[in-house]
Amino acid sequence: MIVLVINCGSSSVKYNLIETEEKRDLCRGLIERIGAVTAIVKHEPAGKDGIKDTRHIANHVEALQEIMDYLLSPENKIISSPDDIKAVGHRVVHGGEMFKDSVLIDEDVMDAIREAFDLAPLHNPPNLKGIQAAKKNLPDIPHVAVFDTAFHHSLPAKSYLYGIPNRLYRRYKIRKYGFHGTSHYYVSRQYYKLTDKPREKTKVITCHLGNGASVTAVDGTESVETSMGFTPLSGLVMGTRSGDLDPSILFYLVEKEELQLNSLHALLNRHSGLLGLSGYASDMRDLIAEAKNGDRRCQQAIDVFCHKVKQYIGAYSAIMNGCDAIIFTAGIGENSPLIRQKILENMDQLGVELDQKKNEAAKSGQIEKISSDKSKTEVYVIPTNEELVIAIDTAKIATASGQSPWV
Ligand code: AMP
Repeated sequence: MIVLVINCGSSSVKYNLIETEEKRDLCRGLIERIGAVTAIVKHEPAGKDGIKDTRHIANHVEALQEIMDYLLSPENKIISSPDDIKAVGHRVVHGGEMFKDSVLIDEDVMDAIREAFDLAPLHNPPNLKGIQAAKKNLPDIPHVAVFDTAFHHSLPAKSYLYGIPNRLYRRYKIRKYGFHGTSHYYVSRQYYKLTDKPREKTKVITCHLGNGASVTAVDGTESVETSMGFTPLSGLVMGTRSGDLDPSILFYLVEKEELQLNSLHALLNRHSGLLGLSGYASDMRDLIAEAKNGDRRCQQAIDVFCHKVKQYIGAYSAIMNGCDAIIFTAGIGENSPLIRQKILENMDQLGVELDQKKNEAAKSGQIEKISSDKSKTEVYVIPTNEELVIAIDTAKIATASGQSPWV
């Protein structure tokens, strides 16, 4: 079945056209700067030359129209009719407490996504905009919402409750939700194919290290702890997000710098993390290059990042009483031997021993085992594929064909 997967930001639409039986990408693309004078349009058909262009695209409806025009154009021959697309899968960041699985989108589901606007003000409004735009362009086929939070629905109360008055949870649903669910789900399932151990008895720590970053403890197929929380701001140090900090720092800053709420929000979400620590860049490649040139603050930013990941791996090993495998994924996790090595150094007491050569030689885009044969805990690099999870779940729900092949 051909499924169009859509991931909408406030001024961007990312898409993948996927053939789900063969798990094959037919085309992917990104439209950025929607609403600006010129938008940047990128289409990358599989196995053919793509295009990168600029033109005016006023809104998300026009962006979806642009995508359909490209897929249908006779020169590109990606699909011959809109009817070739059987369903649309939408990445929706926040499903609140309501959704533990992907769902067919109807008016009630759209209302529920709207109700979670307060919980994810940066993500859910554009996600809903994308759904509305896609429904306008493709009104006659099923649209499915796949939530970033759904995989973490299994968190036990001892993990998702914060140490604040319980009435705040009851009244406002202030609790840990967790994010990057499709990625943690996908790489843990990929690992199950590599081990003889029954999945119900397998304990895995999945490290999604990209511009956004999170760690999850997956015990017997379920997420039991995860580093992101009420919002994607908590946990690891990220590209521009602070991750965990003592909440008193906020009171202190309000007093010292007379910051307003929106400035605090920007400070922690956009000016902190690797960017804030280094004062130079949020991109790990840039930091590694500058640290090699002797920049102390770039080196410190890398050190803080790695220290934090190590801290979570240790904590999650304790929570699960051990760990069969640590998995690295996403931009940094898949591509940086240096960062993987820094995170895992001096962890022999935890039964983790990296094979330096395998770590260095790991090829981008491939599943690679990088632990030594003596290591009690296996270490793998497993490329993530969130779009494929969305496409397969969408196909399953669109055809109501029963259980997801990923479960
Ligand atoms: P993502 O959000 O998954 O696309 O990941 C983006 C992050 O991955 C950025 O910080 C990139 O610098 C980082 N990244 C990509 N390739 C490499 C690499 N070869 N070495 C280090 N970091 C990388």
